[in-house]
Amino acid sequence: MNVVLLGIQGSGKGTQSDLLVEKYGLVHITTGGLFRQNIKQETRLGKIAKSFIDKGELVPDEYAFEIVSKALSSAKDGFILDGFPRNLEQTKFLLNKFEIDKVFLLELDDETAIERILARRQCKKCKKVYNILFQKPKVKNVCDICGGELILREDDNKKAICKRIEKFHHETEKVIKLFKEQSNFFSINATQSLSVISKEIISKIN
Ligand code: AMP
Repeated sequence: MNVVLLGIQGSGKGTQSDLLVEKYGLVHITTGGLFRQNIKQETRLGKIAKSFIDKGELVPDEYAFEIVSKALSSAKDGFILDGFPRNLEQTKFLLNKFEIDKVFLLELDDETAIERILARRQCKKCKKVYNILFQKPKVKNVCDICGGELILREDDNKKAICKRIEKFHHETEKVIKLFKEQSNFFSINATQSLSVISKEIISKIN
């Protein structure tokens, strides 16, 4: 089963992906996460991507294709794509190569999205994501899983967030419009609790 999760930054795509990975054993492919991993490892792709990511710009398609192709090629039994496609070119690229079984849009208004992103913290070590408003760690700034330090992502600052949201409305909404016309598209209210959202997604998958 191949699933695409769409939604504005902060709508909970990563969290829902984790729950689906646990339930269905799919491979979670997050292009943002892959770019960040490359930045950390100081690879060629990471060095190129960093300047775009820091500004909240999209990384040019050729590099997004490179990173996602490699990940998709090792997900033969099904994947959850989170953060890709983000524009029409990326959508064409994906649909030329893969059948997509379900597309979910996590719908959230800009104001709530900004509020949530500014409250987002990520473990430096294992990358688990928390939210200091509604998904707090047991001990402040410490990861429940590995004890790592929780930090704010470098691009989770107001300026870069606004740019990313602008990109979402200008580029990714065209992708949503295209998928919306298909019968395998489902829109979910992302202001609901995590468990209600995941139940809705699971009911559509089943
Ligand atoms: P995310 O973790 O999904 O918020 O992505 C963080 C950043 O990675 C984005 O602001 C972009 O700079 C870059 N990025 C992630 N996915 C893509 C993509 N599909 N195409 C281009 N850039 C991307």
